[in-house]
Amino acid sequence: MTLNPRVMFMPLLVLMAACGTQENPLLGEWDTPFGVPPFDQIEDSHYLPAFRTAMAEHKAEIDGIVGNPELPDFGNSIEALERSGRALTRVRNVFFAIESAHSNDSIREIARTIAPELSAHNDDITLNRGLYERVKAIYDQRNELDLNPEEAKLLEETHKTFVRSGVNLDDEAQARLRQINSELAELSQVFGQNLLKETNEFELYIEDAADVRELPPNLVAAAAEEAVRRGHEGGWSFTLARPSINPFLQHSPNRDLRRQIFMGYAMRGDNDNEADNKAILSRMAALRAERAKLMGYETHAHYVLSDNMAESPERVYEFLDQIWRPALRVAMEERSALQQMMDQDGIADQLKGWDWRYYAEEVRQARYDLDEEALKPYFEVNAVRQGVFMIANRLFGLTFTELEGMPTWHPDQQVFEVKEANGTHVGILYMDFFTRDSKQGGAWMNDLRAQSRLDGEVKPIVTTNFNFPPPAGEGPSLITFDNAKTLAHEFGHALHGLLSDVTYESLSGTNVPRDFVEFPSQIMENWMGEPEVLRMYAKHYETGEPIPDELIEKVKAAGQFNQGFATVEYMAASYLDMAWHALTEPEEKDVRSFETAEMSRRGLIEEIIPRGQMTFKLELLVWVLMKLFSHGIKI
Ligand SMILES: [Zn+2]
Repeated sequence: MTLNPRVMFMPLLVLMAACGTQENPLLGEWDTPFGVPPFDQIEDSHYLPAFRTAMAEHKAEIDGIVGNPELPDFGNSIEALERSGRALTRVRNVFFAIESAHSNDSIREIARTIAPELSAHNDDITLNRGLYERVKAIYDQRNELDLNPEEAKLLEETHKTFVRSGVNLDDEAQARLRQINSELAELSQVFGQNLLKETNEFELYIEDAADVRELPPNLVAAAAEEAVRRGHEGGWSFTLARPSINPFLQHSPNRDLRRQIFMGYAMRGDNDNEADNKAILSRMAALRAERAKLMGYETHAHYVLSDNMAESPERVYEFLDQIWRPALRVAMEERSALQQMMDQDGIADQLKGWDWRYYAEEVRQARYDLDEEALKPYFEVNAVRQGVFMIANRLFGLTFTELEGMPTWHPDQQVFEVKEANGTHVGILYMDFFTRDSKQGGAWMNDLRAQSRLDGEVKPIVTTNFNFPPPAGEGPSLITFDNAKTLAHEFGHALHGLLSDVTYESLSGTNVPRDFVEFPSQIMENWMGEPEVLRMYAKHYETGEPIPDELIEKVKAAGQFNQGFATVEYMAASYLDMAWHALTEPEEKDVRSFETAEMSRRGLIEEIIPRGQMTFKLELLVWVLMKLFSHGIKI
């Protein structure tokens, strides 16, 4: 996925010296290589004053546009809007990149404080009728203006943003809209923070060596380090970070321990404690429903989808329903095979959610003779990274040079200069691979500086973020084949940002309909399993030997295995997402019974829980749609 806050009028970065702000590096000039943010000079205390100064500056710029005595034209209104708020974009890009990838208590506190202020600031612009009048005057004459295609697109998008933000509503409706936006901004911060808290606080602590004997040695080593980090004198701590929980569920023969960690994961945000997300989720869904009604849409899903390729909830359900039944049927076949394996183990019980990954691993080995652990030495994270660079080199002629000594937000970050085949500078790529408590789960890409050329060439600076296992001790970071595809996926988003070639920042890179965003990433993902590509990058970390053909054959053969499970897992989450956003009335629901009812209506089997349960993002849905579309893509 990408984390790409589509913000109004995201302007380009031009270094501006704001008076009296020399001591705040966020507002001063960035005297750094390639103009990257001076991460090494930024302190948490800089953010709030920088945000507020930048918002005031943006407001003054907007006032200047509205108060311009000249008749509105494309330059003095549309381009002027595009130029406004550059300082704010710069602060926002840095802050939210760090808030996602390397937060702490003070960053989280700032995020909660600033979210409603940013929401109000954004509403002050998009609900500004004087400003909209100028935009509309130009929009109404668009056919006579002789605009080039990019200018026409910018005009259309700018106009649309005002309309979709509610500028045409009456005063009373606008006042309510502001309240809704502000409350939603705050709630979504709290939701994410609760989720991170619940993820970080869970621990499966094991003291008995017998319980780790059959686990992969690198997992055990990482769990021993984690136990020390959590203040234990010895033993092993397993966590809900994917590099810990997934291999644990795959390899631990202790059913009760598997149950504990599985439930820890499934119940995040649902523990009736101070980090419970149920009331927040329900409140957010109600507020979104109310907002959609204010805007004249039947539901929030109608509102969001009308501006995406899928267009309507009906089409979304059409796509989902085509795949759901067959996927469920395959998952049930898989379940029977797993149940059989469990019976053979002498366990007289019905298969449960915490058994699935363990027995899937056994069936995979029995049927395909494929052991994921045996694959891992061929997927050392830096080798995989070189692999995606090689693909980009073959396809697009790009080269990647690691830069040393660059400012970073964490020492794990790697920084690369990206160049065309002829040596022309393309942009800067940050990569942050390893899981840690300060990072959100999942993987994403975002812009630190988007490409544009309205006032001179501005080259992109993008980041990619992952939750791969950090190297244990001096050892390498060995990742799974799935992780390798994730790396390629985010790299696809990064290329989208890096290869942007537009005048206006609002139209650059991943600022395209959300369900199109996933297209470059799906293409990049698909390359990773091609035998020719695997031979290029999948090399044994100790011997340098390329992955043997025999192993490639096994990977290919096992490629379809357990896909019923994987598909049902993310599609179930999409149905839930749709159900929450298809509410026609702003009423709050009992979360557990609402979700249970929806899942039983769809016929979800109880051994599978919706992927990303309680993470509640409509983005997940569009990602799924793209994944479904891409099933038809074969390169
Ligand atoms: Zn993506």
